[in-house]
This record gives sequence, C-alpha cells and structure tokens, in this order.
Amino acid sequence: MDTVSKYFGANVFNDTVMKERLPHETYNMLQQTIKNGKHLELGLANVVANAMKDWAIEQGATHFTHWFQPMTGITAEKHDSFISPAFGGKVIMEFSGKELIQGEPDASSFPSGGLRATFEARGYTAWDATSYAFIKDNTLCIPTAFCSYGGHALDKKTPLLRSMQALSRQALRVVKLFGNEDVRFVETTVGAEQEYFLIDKSVFDKRKDLIYTGRTLFGAKPPKGQELDDHYFGAIKPRVLAFMKELDEELWKLGILAKTEHNEVAPAQHELAPIFTTTNIAADHNQLTMELMQKIAKKHNMVCLLHEKPFAGVNGSGKHNNWSLSTDTGVNLLNPGDTPAENAQFLLFVRAVLKAVDDYQDLIRISVASASNDHRLGANEAPPAVVSIFLGTELSEILDAIEKDVPYGTKEKEMLRIGVHTLPKFPKDTTDRNRTSPFAFTGNKFEFRMLGSSSSISDANVMINTSVAESLKQFADILEQSSDFESELHTLIQNTIREHKRIIFNGNGYDDQWVKEAEARGLLNLKSTPDCLPYLLHEKNVQLFARHKVFSPEELKAQYDIQMEGYCKIINIEALTLLNMVNKDILPAVSGFIRDLGETYQQKKAVPFAADCSYEENLIRDLSDLSGRLYRQKLALEKAMESRNDFTDVGEKARYFRDVIFASMNDIRTVVDEMEDKTRSTAWPYPTYGAILFSVK
Ligand code: ADP
Ligand code: MG
Repeated sequence: MDTVSKYFGANVFNDTVMKERLPHETYNMLQQTIKNGKHLELGLANVVANAMKDWAIEQGATHFTHWFQPMTGITAEKHDSFISPAFGGKVIMEFSGKELIQGEPDASSFPSGGLRATFEARGYTAWDATSYAFIKDNTLCIPTAFCSYGGHALDKKTPLLRSMQALSRQALRVVKLFGNEDVRFVETTVGAEQEYFLIDKSVFDKRKDLIYTGRTLFGAKPPKGQELDDHYFGAIKPRVLAFMKELDEELWKLGILAKTEHNEVAPAQHELAPIFTTTNIAADHNQLTMELMQKIAKKHNMVCLLHEKPFAGVNGSGKHNNWSLSTDTGVNLLNPGDTPAENAQFLLFVRAVLKAVDDYQDLIRISVASASNDHRLGANEAPPAVVSIFLGTELSEILDAIEKDVPYGTKEKEMLRIGVHTLPKFPKDTTDRNRTSPFAFTGNKFEFRMLGSSSSISDANVMINTSVAESLKQFADILEQSSDFESELHTLIQNTIREHKRIIFNGNGYDDQWVKEAEARGLLNLKSTPDCLPYLLHEKNVQLFARHKVFSPEELKAQYDIQMEGYCKIINIEALTLLNMVNKDILPAVSGFIRDLGETYQQKKAVPFAADCSYEENLIRDLSDLSGRLYRQKLALEKAMESRNDFTDVGEKARYFRDVIFASMNDIRTVVDEMEDKTRSTAWPYPTYGAILFSVK
C-alpha cells in the first residue's frame, strides 16, 4: 500500500485533478461559478463532464449517479452506465454536461410531505459543485441537491446550502462593520464526531429486533456492563483495529479527513472523529462515513450499529457537531483575538450564538428529535433534553464583568470596554471540562452534543445557521445605523448578555436539580419528538425561515408531517417486531421450558428420596405467572395496534404511538426481561446482552 499522502483523495475529482485535467480557461470559469454560487452553463458543463468521465473511467468506473440525500436521512443513488451505442455493435462511453448538472429521478417513492403533486412524480437533482464528485463502487457519484419541479426542497442538502448562504449574508454585514472590507463570504465549518457499536455478525443474525429495528427490544442486564469503565480509550481489539484501518484507508481515498479512532464508554462502542471542513462537505462526508462503516464492518464479519440506543442500560450513541464560522480570508470568528477590535468581534459572535440558542431553543431541540434519539435525550442520559450553553468559567466571568460594568482581572482590575481593551488570555483546556452540556464553547468553536448517531447532521446545522443568521441580522440592523459604533456595540453586548444569560449553565447537565432550575428560568424541556415538533410551525419560526429563505411555509409544514409520520413509522415497525418475537419465539420457548420443568418434576416425584421439588415448583409457578401476564399484555398491544390508523391529525397519531403503543412495549419488555433471567440459557431463543456486547473478541 502506498503512503497515505499518495492515495489520500485518490477517488475524488478534486481541485488538483481539475487543474490537471481541465483546460486552464475552463478551470478558472468553473472556480468562479463555484465561488459565486452561480448556475453552471451548459458549454462549460460539457467540458467538465467529459474530463470527469475520462478520469472516472481510468479509475475503473463504468457508471455515474447523482448522489442525493432525501428526507429519509440516508443517501440515494440511481446508477446509469456511461455506455452509448456506436456503429458496428460497439459502444462508446459518454457523459454530457446536461447529465452532470441535472438529473430527473422519479421522486414518488421519497417522502415529500405533500410537496410533490401526484401528477408530477418527477423531481430533479442539481449538482452541488462545492462538493467534489467521487468514485464509489465503480460509480462516479455527483453530490446533488434534490428538489420538486416546483422548486421545493425534497432533501437535506438544499436547506443546508440555503442556511449557509443566509448566515454568510448576515455575518458579512457584521464583519464589514469591523472594517474587514476584504472578506467576500463567511462559511460555517463542522467536525462531526461519530459514535457506533460493532458486534459480531453471528449474534446479530439471531436477533430479529436488531435486524428490523436496529435496536434490541428485549435483553436482561448482563453480569458485567460498562461499570468498570475498562473499555473507554482501552486497547483496541485486533479485529476492531483491522476494521478501523480499512475504514480509515477507504475514507482517506474519498478525501475524508478521518483523524481519531478510539474505544468509547460502553463495551463494543467506538468513535471516529474527522478534521473539520465546510459544513455541506462535512455533511456529505458524515453520510459516506456511516455508509462505509456499515459496509466495511460486514467485510470483517461484524455489524456496525448506528442506532442511538441499541441496548437499554448501556450508553447510547450520539454525534458531536463541532461548529464554527470562518471568513474566506481564513479567520475563525469564534477565536478570541489579540487586538481590541478582534476581541469585540469575537464577543459579538459569541453573543450571536447565545442569543440564537436562547431565542430558538425549540428549533435546536427539534433538529435532533427522532424516535431513536428520544431514548437518549431526557432519559437520564447524555445530554439532557433542555438546551443550554456552557461557556466555561473565564468567558462567563468576562461576560459578567461586561454586563455589570465591574472590573475584571486580578492584575489590572480594569473595566472592560469593548473595542478598547483586549481580553485576558484564557487557556483553552479550562473551557472544555464539562461533558454534560448540550452546547459547549470549547475554546474556538461550539460543540453541539445532542445529535443522534444515525441522523444526518444537516438538520442541526440548518437550525444553528439560520438562528445565528437572525441574531447577526438584528445586530447588523442596529449597528449599521449607529453614529457611535463603539458605545453602541458595548451596549448591544451588554443587553444581549442581560437578556439571554438564562441559557448559560456551567454546572452538571445530568443533575435532576438542573431540570428544576431550568424550568424556573423558563427554559423549554421538550422530552419527546411529538412534544417538540409542533413548535416547528410556531409563527416566529415560520417567519424566521421565510425571512432567511431557508424554508417556505409549505416546506416547513412538509418537514413537520414527514418527521411526525417518521416517528409513527419507527414505533410501528418496533411494535410489529416485538409482537412477532413474543408470539413466535418467546412465549413458545418459555412454554417449552415449563414443560421440561414439569417432566423433571414428575420424574423426581417418582423417586422416593428426591422429595424436595421446590426449585421446579417455584420456577414453574413464576414462569407460568409471567407468561400469563405477557400473553395478556401482548393481546392488549395487538388490540391497541388496531386503532393506530384512526387518526386524521398526524400529531395526535404520534402521541398515540408514544403514550399507548410505546408505553405498552416498555411494559412488555419488563416482563420478558424477567423471564429471560429465569429461563435456562439454552432454552432462551436469542443471544443475551452479554453474548452480544462481548461478541467481538
Ligand atoms: P478538543 O480536543 O478540544 O475536543 P479538537 O481540536 O480535537 O478539540 O476537535 C474536536 C473536533 O472539533 C474535531 O472534529 C475538530 O476537527 C473539530 N474542530 C476543531 N476546530 C473546529 C472549527 N474551527 N470548526 C469546526 N470544527 C472544528
Ligand atoms: Mg466531542
């Protein structure tokens, strides 16, 4: 194998390849189009497509596809080969500019929330030229946005790109006020840390719940779980190491900056962290990372579980979205600076985030809501469902001093005047000790930790970008009109701290006390998906998205419908799987075990000196009671399932799934787990938690 630097990006039609392969003029024009976000014209597209095709064929590609991200949250592709008939029964390989810039997949089988009129089944995909084309499975993949013919977003990429533009527009106004005239755009950057479980394929294949739902619906606690903390950062097992090595290599070939791989807290749990990049590219890369994790695990006879909560009583998996903003001139706007002006600008951007997260707590919460992530948020696990911001002691104290106009610092004891003084240096490491905060400032970026492991990072970034764009818009509106910039800025920062400090919480986010305090502060605590989704359609949010051109009211309504419906679908599949397992495996297995016990009992009774049959008697009684209870509970669930479609309102339907179906599933689980504990190992129909969690040796 070549050295990494040789094969890094080998499967990507990146800038270097473009420079090599495109005529100089075409290359420059393409760069201009990309930078200005302009539409690619056909003549130019033809030249690019041809170069792309030649390159792809040299790499062994035979097909091309528009690679897109429908609202299912995963990726979609439809492969077309390059072949075109030629004279004499031969073929030539062709790929036109039109095929590069636009595709027309049938949109009728993707969720559209009513945006796609039934008579117009077609959708169209359009190249996102800011994200490089790449080769995967002998196919040239072109990252695209997916819209309806009416121009409505049907995917995760379109709103993300719109939100990045909205943020750039407003951030640009602000940086110009600080005299940065050379800045042409501001982009958001993201590094998405990804958690996952790896288990042996042989145990996975025996669990219908893992196969159909991605999580275990039953499973008694194993004798050993994560209590010894011996897995976290522990030595990585050889099989896992081989998997990680191959994963890294494949990611690097795709130009994905995989950086860190380590063991996580739970047994069989691991994490991968990439180096940050532009947000839409980070989103594409995270999708590819998840796809490759699953594919490569299979090659190693393992299964990668991306579900947020595969095992009850064991840590779940999330994603950390490290987010910052940076100018095209390379300045990280969340990095405290060395001069008074840089400091003032930094403080204003931190305030913008503070205000955004407070004003739009509901949207931040919604952006991570799903049936699977509900198992983590608000369920005594990292992080809580209440959205708050951690700023660290130093930054909090500085803000406090500014707010109250009191001296700060031990040496000089000066009043901090924005735009006049530099901030004291605060070391980065002291800001990142709190791992329980949902939204933490970590020195030069914010780390949003509520995302579920399986979700696309787009939703979260759409919400962060749009709400921060709104803060910046309000700031710019005021500051652009002011005659005394410095004092207006000082007042603005002071006021923002005063109005939004309730969102700052530096304590332990897992503490019950915090939930009470948050309530007293008036912060939202939206525990489940059906609780939070209705906020999406609140007037303030409809207006926010319309004002920044991220979602039209129709698109927002579609988002609401699709997400509520998605919630119901997931619980529906889980309930059907659970009933199947109870009916076909669990009840018959326990019944058989009771029969075995009965036979033993009778045989023992026939032996005069084997008088003590209390083990058999008691176990038969206990298990018969439990199976009777389970039988009645599952009848009740079956009955409840009959009325699951009797709703016209999707919100009501989701609440029914949560309060009746899901609640009943949890009751059933308690009984089944008790039965598992009492049943002979060889009589239980499924691999136990112990067998699954410690399956990779
Ligand atoms: P720490 O060690 O404090 O957790 P790291 O520097 O290791 O921070 O970064 C953690 C994650 O944050 C990585 O994915 C990294 O690429 C990402 N990150 C670092 N700086 C930025 C930034 N400016 N914008 C977005 N993500 C960033
Ligand atoms: Mg992290």
